[in-house]
Amino acid sequence: MIDFRSDTVTRPSAGMRSAIAEAEVGDDVYGEDPTVNNLEEKTAALLGKEAAVFVSSGTQSNLLAILAQCQRGDEYLVGQQAHAYLFEAGGAAVLGGVQPQPLELDEHGMFDLKALDGAIKRQPSMHHLAHSKLLSIENTFDGKVLPHSYIEEVQQIGRDHNLALHLDGARMWNAAVSSGRTPGDVVDGFDTVSVCLSKGLGAPVGSVLVGDEQIIEEARRWRKMLGGGTRQAGILAAAGIYALDNNLARMSEDHDNSAHLAAALSSLPGVSVDGPHTNMLFVQFEGIDTTVLAEELAKQGILIFSGDSVRLVCHLDIEREDIDRAVTVMSDVLEKLSG
Ligand SMILES: *Cc1c(COP(=O)(O)O)cnc(C)c1O
Repeated sequence: MIDFRSDTVTRPSAGMRSAIAEAEVGDDVYGEDPTVNNLEEKTAALLGKEAAVFVSSGTQSNLLAILAQCQRGDEYLVGQQAHAYLFEAGGAAVLGGVQPQPLELDEHGMFDLKALDGAIKRQPSMHHLAHSKLLSIENTFDGKVLPHSYIEEVQQIGRDHNLALHLDGARMWNAAVSSGRTPGDVVDGFDTVSVCLSKGLGAPVGSVLVGDEQIIEEARRWRKMLGGGTRQAGILAAAGIYALDNNLARMSEDHDNSAHLAAALSSLPGVSVDGPHTNMLFVQFEGIDTTVLAEELAKQGILIFSGDSVRLVCHLDIEREDIDRAVTVMSDVLEKLSG
């Protein structure tokens, strides 16, 4: 199978599985799992923050950042198309009484800075208004790396209004690897950062939320309340440590592969490609029913989602030869479907 649907589909490698098998564990609710503690310290250090908490998913991590820094009746400003607004089932509103203030993002995943500034509620004493409390941005967004200067401008606007700054850095690792910046540099200036271990890094489960001691302590309490306190979680954390040690630098291969795929697909008739953007690209197939395309490709072991713009994602379980094979198959199938 060559699975282009997401970088979440990777299976743990033999090396990762043996790290899992050998993990030293303890009861993490008591703070006694050495492997979890190690992962948390390692991630905090890598990202230049004081503390970290290991959580089940990116969704939980973003939610904890909001709950730990906002009160009922506060609001967080977030992209209309951002994961932390669109794809997290309304958790902050449902579970925290925290209202989102979504704002349109452009195709690069960026706010209009004037609109952002204008949306911040400046008169908390006015009892008609929610309290603007936190500003959340996403990097990478659809694989696109946000310019560092833009991040600094957004942070400045947030700081001018005493907002907490959160980065949904599910794929921040890709931004770091592709821009040549250190992970710590990419997340500099944010109060909290959520990073996924289960996407390009290839771990089966888990995200980490980092920030200062006090916020992370508060996040731990919320994690417990949400049922996210787990026991011998070192089994999972071991995979995360292995992933950081072995799978971070190699992400540049995924970026090279997505560039290779983009170039090959662009040369096919009726195919237009947006990208590569780090490890992903978005493809339009003129005059093709992509549901049928997906079915035909699946018969030959190639998995894609259907849609107007089909996202293809390169990851640890896709090698250069897989891409060449996939392009050959796609070319044949497209010829058949358009013929
Ligand atoms: C995947 C993703 C998340 C959520 O991660 P899950 O582990 O699937 O809950 C959050 N933000 C972004 C940008 C993501 O891509």
